[in-house]
Amino acid sequence: MPEALRVCALYPDLMNIYADRGNLIVLERRCSWRGIGFELSSSGLGEQLDPDAHDLFYIGGGQDRDQRLCAEDLLESKSSALHAAAERGAIVLGVCGGYQLLGHSYAIGEELIPGLGLIDAVTVREEGPRLIGNVAIEVSLEDDADARPRVLAGFENHGGRTHLGAGQEALGRVLKGHGNDGRSGLEGARRANTIGTYLHGPLLPKNAWFADWLIARALGRDSSELSPLEDELEQQAHLGARRAAGV
Ligand code: GLN
Repeated sequence: MPEALRVCALYPDLMNIYADRGNLIVLERRCSWRGIGFELSSSGLGEQLDPDAHDLFYIGGGQDRDQRLCAEDLLESKSSALHAAAERGAIVLGVCGGYQLLGHSYAIGEELIPGLGLIDAVTVREEGPRLIGNVAIEVSLEDDADARPRVLAGFENHGGRTHLGAGQEALGRVLKGHGNDGRSGLEGARRANTIGTYLHGPLLPKNAWFADWLIARALGRDSSELSPLEDELEQQAHLGARRAAGV
């Protein structure tokens, strides 16, 4: 196993609402409790990105205004590095606003905010209320230590509706909540190791099993190879989030 999980947070100052920072802390703790090193770096506006220097790239949620700034910068200074990283199997995880930027575009009225095109999806700010509330989805991840479908629970708050391209796999099926667009019953998107989801929560403190799946996958391992942890509190947090969503 490599000595450390190398994580790069993209725009941690701008793309970080609903305590998305907690996701990074969970990755750090779960590595350190197992004696796996953890290196956190960040890349902000105008900063270059080395596609080979990180195992997991993280981009959190953001306001439309901040997404605009980041979208411009992503295309100018980080797009080819992120495509190269995804190509070699690094994890790229986008939450909410970050998820929207992984797709082709985010349309707000006449304005089109361009995205990275790492997943085949477009997001549109349509008429209608924001999609807000507790949410639970069912996901099946092929090399999960527990091969059954599992639940991710969290909280969503987005004005944009995301529509997946015909061949684009969703991350999961909505059990409770709105998901991508409030209609399709689909939530998030996944293409190999690029994953987008509307679940804040923050996502990983409420779904420790998914943090482990990400850690293992980023290190090129199977989750069953990670030593088990004392997860009493994490389990309570997960069950609490599920209860909040009514699942
Ligand atoms: N600004 C985006 C939207 O409203 C994303 C919001 C978020 O990250 N919570 O759709």
